[in-house]
Amino acid sequence: MSSDDEHKDPAVKKHSAPEKIGAGDGQSIEELFNSPRIVELKESLCDIGRRMWQREYTDGNGGNLTVRVGENLVLCTPTMISKGFMKQEDMCLVDLEGKQLAGRRQRTSEALTHIGIMKEQPKAKACCHAHPPYATAYALAGRRPPRNLTPEAEIFLGEIGLSDYRTPGTPENAAEVGRVGKDHSAILMINHGVITWGTDIEEAYWRMEIVEAYCKTVWIALHLTPDLKTISCPYTQDLLQIRKKLMP
Ligand SMILES: [Zn+2]
Repeated sequence: MSSDDEHKDPAVKKHSAPEKIGAGDGQSIEELFNSPRIVELKESLCDIGRRMWQREYTDGNGGNLTVRVGENLVLCTPTMISKGFMKQEDMCLVDLEGKQLAGRRQRTSEALTHIGIMKEQPKAKACCHAHPPYATAYALAGRRPPRNLTPEAEIFLGEIGLSDYRTPGTPENAAEVGRVGKDHSAILMINHGVITWGTDIEEAYWRMEIVEAYCKTVWIALHLTPDLKTISCPYTQDLLQIRKKLMP
């Protein structure tokens, strides 16, 4: 789509008033929304959406992605779209109250949930939400997988969080997931799915892959024996040190 089409779109025009956004360089929302930096991030969201869909982490229109792009600005995926087939012009821009500022399509209904984490944990610059089957199965059981079984999970996930069920898209869900997300970068959402955060969208997505792979592997191992071998002290302390070094 050309930028001319953007101007003709009434939804975008409505948001493209000469409002300044405090980005530090006097850019309007529309200028920012179409800037090379944001277009590159939009492409990243499409790419990660495709990877999530290909790995069967999402189905139907499930899952959503967000990236914080300013003090009061979050780029997000739209609602009612397969995450495997998004185009960069489908993306939306919202403020931290979830109000849509730019984009032709309607924002994901889960934007508030992601923002709930961003408000509680300043290090969370991007979030990834999906329904990968193994991790979601643990969430449905209301259980977290056991700790200290693989170095990767200890280093990149640490303790996995568990948030109580609240209606998706509501401020109550945002508050509950934000409460747990403050201290956990991967959260199993009971009766729902998984949300992960990172300092950028790639890191948030890696955590989604790691939590799903961990839950799947533990599930298979538990069918071999209920008595799994765990990494013991002092090796667990080594992993903690590596985690602190890699993710200060
Ligand atoms: Zn969901």
